[in-house]
Amino acid sequence: MTADKKQTALIIEDNEDNMVLIAMLLQDAGYETICADTGLKGVQLALGQEPDFVLLDIQLPDINGAEVLKRIRALDADVAGIPIIAMTSYAMSGDREKLLAAGCDGYIEKPIDTMHVIDQIRAIVGDT
Ligand code: MN
Repeated sequence: MTADKKQTALIIEDNEDNMVLIAMLLQDAGYETICADTGLKGVQLALGQEPDFVLLDIQLPDINGAEVLKRIRALDADVAGIPIIAMTSYAMSGDREKLLAAGCDGYIEKPIDTMHVIDQIRAIVGDT
């Protein structure tokens, strides 16, 4: 174990403002970030970069978040089991149970709660 090894977050989000905000908050908290603005790019980056966890928007321009979740879980690699956190708006709260049942590890609310989102993420993925 290397104490100063940074965890890498893959952010799959097509809304640029939201992507920049969450990336900035994660970087300020000491995480590395990589970003994808479509579901397919996200799946490719998950396989190629093997991030430590994923933040996943549900409404994406190509394949939706539920499909991204399914495809990452189906990857034939260590990355298949990584924590995946859905980013859902209140309007989609009815989908949360479905996402959790489909293998999502948790969710955070949109709009992002800038004061608490890092704690929310740590509570799901752990501190190390
Ligand atoms: Mn979106």
